[in-house]
Amino acid sequence: MERPGKILCVGRNYREHAKEMGNEVPTTPLVFLKPASSVIAAGAPIVIPAGTGRVDFEGEIGLVIGTRLRRATAAEAAAAVQGVVAVNDVSARDLQKSDPQWWRAKGQDTFCPIGPMRAGTPDFGALEMVTRVNGQERQRGLSRDMVFPIPDLIAFISSAMTLEPGDVVITGTPEGVGPLAHGDQVEVEVVGWSRVANPVVVEA
Ligand code: ZN
Repeated sequence: MERPGKILCVGRNYREHAKEMGNEVPTTPLVFLKPASSVIAAGAPIVIPAGTGRVDFEGEIGLVIGTRLRRATAAEAAAAVQGVVAVNDVSARDLQKSDPQWWRAKGQDTFCPIGPMRAGTPDFGALEMVTRVNGQERQRGLSRDMVFPIPDLIAFISSAMTLEPGDVVITGTPEGVGPLAHGDQVEVEVVGWSRVANPVVVEA
């Protein structure tokens, strides 16, 4: 895919995942950014820098913005979605704990695999996401279990930052996150929409 201008991410948007990490569910969306330089396509390796500590997969449903959005309503936000992508929000947990901001934990090169976009407007409350590691199912999430519905998230983000065509919004990961190791094959699928599979290597 073409590299997005920016990637907006939402943390703790599923109750069970917030709980497994020992966090409360936020009362306003917890939003952060991943840089465009972290994006890789399906098939490209996720490279874990040597000495990084625990690095987890986070399978997520991603939405690609098709039209410019600023201070949008939820209905306007829904209408501006161009298509759906599968995204892996690869996360270095030790750095996520030690740094007040998540630029290193979430923003390293290759830490944002994005699958090919299928164009169309989904039923935002009926999306399903599956993560598999070495062919074994590890996560299964339903968008209807999100704390904040997808159109509300996009509208909230557009209240602070203009969303441009090609920007990607990823909507949080369900429970079941776990570490990646050298030689793993990790796959995120948004059922019926997009799939991204990548090998994992630890940098020598
Ligand atoms: Zn995430």
